[in-house]
Amino acid sequence: MGDNQTREEDKLPLPWQRIQGAIWLLGLALIAWQDWWWPGILVLVAISGLTQAGIQLYLNRQQEQRQSVDRGAQLERERAEWLPDVCPKCGGPLSVATVKWTSPTTADCPYCKANLKRPDRA
Ligand SMILES: [Zn+2]
Repeated sequence: MGDNQTREEDKLPLPWQRIQGAIWLLGLALIAWQDWWWPGILVLVAISGLTQAGIQLYLNRQQEQRQSVDRGAQLERERAEWLPDVCPKCGGPLSVATVKWTSPTTADCPYCKANLKRPDRA
């Protein structure tokens, strides 16, 4: 599923590229203003590297979070698909949120504790 391995580690999304560009411009302006080309340019390169790494870390974490949310939502959809509206044993109303999940494909009725299983698909 959406797991394409086109990794562009060193390329940031456009808004972040603009921020990086702004950092460079500001840094260069400062260096020119202070006439501090050496070693000012090294400091600027270091700062740019640090912000790049920070942005990358931040973006990676965001992506991981999004993926885990996606996984959770998918699991919930799969569960909702087979879970009956009412318990076949006691007739109590069931929902993904109220039953007690014992595994991705089994759950316990919250009223009579009957074990509900995902029917095997032919
Ligand atoms: Zn029940």
